[in-house]
Amino acid sequence: MRYSGFRVIKEALLGQKGWRPLWRDPEPQPRYDYVIVGGGGHGLATAYYLAKTFQKSRIAVLEKGWLGSGNIGRNTTIIRSNYLLPGNEPFYEFSMKLWENLEQETNFNSMVSQRGIINLIHTDAQRDAYRRRGNAMLFAGADAQLLSPNELREMVPFLNYDNARFPIKGGLFQRRAGTARHDGVAWGYARGADMRGVDIIQNCEVTGMRIEGGKVLGVETSRGYIAAGKVGVAVAGSSSRVMSMAGMRLPVESHVLQAFVSEGLKPVIPGVITFGAGHFYVSQSDKGGLVFGGDIDGYNSYAQRGNLPVVEDVLEGGMALMPMIGRARLLRSWGGIMDMSMDGSPIIDRTSVDGLYFNGGWCYGGFKATPASGFAFAHLLATDRPHETATAYRLDRFARGYLIDEKGVGAQPNLH
Ligand SMILES: Cc1cc2nc3c(=O)[nH]c(=O)nc-3n(C[C@H](O)[C@H](O)[C@H](O)COP(=O)(O)OP(=O)(O)OC[C@H]3O[C@@H](n4cnc5c(N)ncnc54)[C@H](O)[C@@H]3O)c2cc1C
Repeated sequence: MRYSGFRVIKEALLGQKGWRPLWRDPEPQPRYDYVIVGGGGHGLATAYYLAKTFQKSRIAVLEKGWLGSGNIGRNTTIIRSNYLLPGNEPFYEFSMKLWENLEQETNFNSMVSQRGIINLIHTDAQRDAYRRRGNAMLFAGADAQLLSPNELREMVPFLNYDNARFPIKGGLFQRRAGTARHDGVAWGYARGADMRGVDIIQNCEVTGMRIEGGKVLGVETSRGYIAAGKVGVAVAGSSSRVMSMAGMRLPVESHVLQAFVSEGLKPVIPGVITFGAGHFYVSQSDKGGLVFGGDIDGYNSYAQRGNLPVVEDVLEGGMALMPMIGRARLLRSWGGIMDMSMDGSPIIDRTSVDGLYFNGGWCYGGFKATPASGFAFAHLLATDRPHETATAYRLDRFARGYLIDEKGVGAQPNLH
């Protein structure tokens, strides 16, 4: 079924009886050519591009819960391509271009909204760093603009510009950045993949891997053994757990990241704003809630909930930036599990086991990467060669010393 304005009118006239489920609920087959473990954004996008762009068939996505139960349904929905390093910026700009056409591509309203992101500048040194980053973005074909304090005041007059500790001295602006409806992205890719014959199997947890002679033969699941030609693992916060089933220890630690939503307010924040003197970022949803977050909780955990010290820390950042936020009531908060890599950048690579491929280490920035990650992982699975924008995302870079340390903080996953 194709979605269109015409279809909405037709269904309204016919009593809304013609809508169909977005995807089937198939029984697992005994064997697939491609098994993708993890039905989050990255796993679903991978299956979609494998079927659509690389014309592969006999593909299954195995998801231990329901679609959207992981980070794809828990993130703060920011999409952007404002990176500095050559290993990262072309990849995220490729993702941005895929976002710009995603709704036409999947024929699904993922509410991609390019309302811009502003990274605030509080010191002269920070202005130099952001100017450098903006130039790197322009070199990679992205858009970037350095805003003066006056330009900034016109766009977002409600910030605390004259805060004695953290005066606001300008901002780095990416106009094409913005937000997208996170679970709508999963549903759009799932529907598109299902339409092309991909079996999306929910409530099917991978519990083991069958490996013989250095080659993966299939996966053990809560719904029985499934043989596979190739297995692609895209399980985000569960990366280390799932890859340990293949005897691998990853350069990844799992940490909790929390998000917060206020009660609905009248439109006040035009795009996404990030505080430059602490970790706090905020945007406003279409329903009016302020959506904000900050640092990870900072200790290893697989729990999808956070703790009060970070709640306090995030809210202090918010109060320093826009004190009137203290009058809004908090509606809800939640946590997700981040697969923090040692250098803060992701991994999309083959592994030492023949036929086993890994996609992970997305830290708290993997939502914006969803389209490019799916495309690059599908490219790798289909051709056995890395996509041109993802050649740096190798698993052995930690052993070889070719880190992609965007923040320059070293091998400290809790600081990226
Ligand atoms: C609070 C929060 C805010 C964030 N904000 C942003 C943001 O603004 N912008 C941004 O770019 N990124 C953001 N992120 C990060 C982003 O959400 C993640 O990096 C990204 O969603 C991870 O990829 P995924 O969608 O595939 O993960 P997931 O949705 O977590 O998918 C992995 C799936 O694997 C499944 N799985 C795990 N183990 C197994 C198994 N054994 N068998 C079968 N299935 C299994 C899980 O159930 C899960 O559904 C945020 C994350 C959080 C938690």
